[in-house]
Amino acid sequence: MMLLPGLLSAEFCKGEDMGRLFLVSLEGNFYSCKHCQTHFALAHDIISKSFQSRHGKAYLFDKVVNVTVGEKEERNLITGVHTVVDIFCVACGSIVGWKYESACEKSQQYKEGKFILERFKVLGPDGSLYMEAPEPNAVGSDVDDV
Ligand SMILES: [Zn+2]
Repeated sequence: MMLLPGLLSAEFCKGEDMGRLFLVSLEGNFYSCKHCQTHFALAHDIISKSFQSRHGKAYLFDKVVNVTVGEKEERNLITGVHTVVDIFCVACGSIVGWKYESACEKSQQYKEGKFILERFKVLGPDGSLYMEAPEPNAVGSDVDDV
């Protein structure tokens, strides 16, 4: 059973390149948008899983597809000052992570041009959604005994 997103209606199309949205399809083990299942990155392009964002785990990827980038900004991170841009799902516009444009510290420059995806924003290769804490009232377990 495949859930195809189908054609996106006009209201999702953002300005500049009117109309068609070309999405890259990945094969194999990939991470995808938790909202619209757009493919983002291959598991084998992960450089590091030991990154941390404000919201929990984040992975560093060599390549990410189907994203648009926001405004450049300087961020003062634990590892020094970096120029970063936020990255957004090209299909639904939700923010999924950021990209390192440049780093001041020599030791951090391996991250330049690389992407961070926040783990809780994406679906894993097996379609899993990572949660810091599971929902206490999951579907199908209504408590109703007296
Ligand atoms: Zn999306």
